[in-house]
Formats: sequence, structure tokens, C-alpha cells
Amino acid sequence: MKITHASHLGTAELTAELSRLARCEREATAALIVHLAEFDARRLFEGAGYSSLFRYCRKVLHLSEDAVYNRIKTARAARRYPVIVNRLESGALSLTTVRLIAPRLTPENHQELLAAASGKGKQAVEELLARRFPQADVPARVRKLPSRPAAPVANVTPTDTAPTACPPVAGFEPVGTAPATIAGAEAPLALPVPAAPRAVVRPLAPERYEIRFTASAEMREKLRVAQDLLGHALPSGDIAQVFDRALTLLVADLSRRKFAATARPRRSRGQSDESRNVPAEVKRLCAARDQRRCAFVAPNGRRCDERRFLEFHHVVPYAAGGLPTAENIQLRCRAHNGHEADLFYGPGKRRLRRGVVSNGRAICGRESGPGTGPGTSTHSDSSTIP
Ligand SMILES: [Zn+2]
Repeated sequence: MKITHASHLGTAELTAELSRLARCEREATAALIVHLAEFDARRLFEGAGYSSLFRYCRKVLHLSEDAVYNRIKTARAARRYPVIVNRLESGALSLTTVRLIAPRLTPENHQELLAAASGKGKQAVEELLARRFPQADVPARVRKLPSRPAAPVANVTPTDTAPTACPPVAGFEPVGTAPATIAGAEAPLALPVPAAPRAVVRPLAPERYEIRFTASAEMREKLRVAQDLLGHALPSGDIAQVFDRALTLLVADLSRRKFAATARPRRSRGQSDESRNVPAEVKRLCAARDQRRCAFVAPNGRRCDERRFLEFHHVVPYAAGGLPTAENIQLRCRAHNGHEADLFYGPGKRRLRRGVVSNGRAICGRESGPGTGPGTSTHSDSSTIP
């Protein structure tokens, strides 16, 4: 049966159906992994006219490149350690986390390591592996790239932890190297060329990370100037320390602008009772109390953990007489600020127009929408953090 819409379902029914479908997908994925492992072991793709399982999966099974990579690597790990299949089916492990952990599995450690990775996301598993299998620091490097980068070829080695999510960054890895292989793979796997290099943040060991990205010539020059200016304080010009100092200043500046954070808070000059401006001391109190993350708590008790796109939210809306006090202001992410507006004003009413009057008080919210840039508000009872 082909389902093209679900608009007829009520909230409870839709939520339950979504859970059921997710469970079905996990079961189907686990079954696919089992069959793919057997198909691979018999090398049936050769008889079907394909030189690799990767090509077979792409052409016959119509799986995406990322999907093929994760599934082949998981299938080969599951063949060695069948317990993986049960954990995939239960949702304790994902294809991504199995791919990350597979190169480290041994007959001796697999039960314990798979249990430790269960229930964790990609980043947490990378941290786990960095703790268990610490790697040496990588040397700081700045390397000039061609002005028009050649299409890089993925170079996946057994130590690569996220080759599809974090393709090699040209300038730090040789370009045009030999075809990639999957660790422990029975057959070489020709991986697709990634569309563009992406920045990499990879745990190496406890408290140690490798960060890679491509910089512009302008940024390179700024780095050079910063190294020169730090000549006395930092004779080595160590790039990591230069960036650490720069980020320390940036975080302090953004914290001041977004949350009025300062080591020397000044006394408020006061403001009109009619003002909807959130005073600096209220911003500081709210940011500290809400731990700089969205303070929305769902009816099921879950608190949102979003830390980006935060806004100061009036618990009792300004339009209903709510004042910008610490008791009435909380942090909300953009989505939940909009959600609160929907709850109060009704769906679709969150973009109120300037000058609308409610309860005898002018609502001075800025009408805005996606793409209007920072400093705008999605409804009248928020103050977007710049
Ligand atoms: Zn939120």
C-alpha cells in the first residue's frame, strides 16, 4: 500500500503510527543487513554482472552512496558478530555507530564495546572510541591548495572513523590516492567522490580533538598577522593556541552581546513599565538560570536541549500584560518560541503585525519570516538574541 499523506490522523494516532513505522524500518534494516552479509559472503554480485557489492547495491538495490557504505560495513561486521543485528533491530545501535565502531571490534572486546556504544549517538561513540583507543595529536599544518581544487578521491583507511560524513579535506590529505578500501573488507570498495570537503572535528583521545577546515587567503593572512602580534607572548606561533585565544575573545564578545554577560555589571538605569525591552540584568539571570539553552518543557516532561537560535520569551505574553522580569522571561529556541506563540495566539498567528493592540497594549513585534536575518523576531512575545 502506498501512503502519500497522513493528514487524516489525529495527534495520538499519528504519533503512534510514527513509532510503529520507525520500528518496522529498524526491523527491515536488520533483515537487510543479514541478507546483504550472506549475499556478500557468497559474492553473488559477481555472477549478477557486477564487480563489487557497492556497484550492485547502487545499481540494483537503488541505495544511495552513503546508505551503501554504511550497510556494507555493518553487514560485514554483523557477519563476524551477529549480536549487532539484534542491537540494530532494537535501535540500540545505528548503522552509523556500527560503522564507526566496526574497525575496533575483536572477538575479545565486541560484547563489551557494543554494549558501551549502545544508545549513543555518533558524536558520543566517537568520544568513546577516542577514550578507548587514543590517537596521537596531529601536527598543525597550513598548506596551500590549488586555486581551483581538483575533485578529491576518498581515501578511507582502517583508522578513518567517518569517511562519508567527514571526507578528507584537500590540503591535509594527498589528492588522487589509490581507491579506498573498507577496513576488514573482503573486496575493495570504490567509494564515490565527495561533493565538497567539509570541516572535520574528530576526537583523538580524551580532551584532544583534530579540527580540519579549508581557509580563505584572507583568513590565512589574519592568522599570520595574529601570529606576528603574538610574537612575544607566543613565540612558537602555534596555530592551536592562536585559535584558542581568538575563540576565547569571540565567545566573550558573543556572550556579552547575546546574554549581556560581563565581569562588571552596571546598575540598570530603569525603563518604562510599558517597555518590552529585556533589561541586561534579566538577560544575565535568565541565561544563567536556563543554562543558555531552551527552557521549554514538553507535557511529557522532556526539556528541549537546543542551544542555538535562542530568544528571550515572555512566559505571560507581553500582549497579555507580561513584563520583562526574570520571573517572566525564559530562553526558547526559535521553534519553541513559535510553538508557544501558536499555543497562545492560535496556529498561524505567530507573525503579528506591528501596531496590533491587545489588552490595551501595543504589540511592537517585528513582522518577520525566514531569511530576514539575525535580530528579527518570529512573534511579538520574543526578543531575539542577536
Ligand atoms: Zn526548544
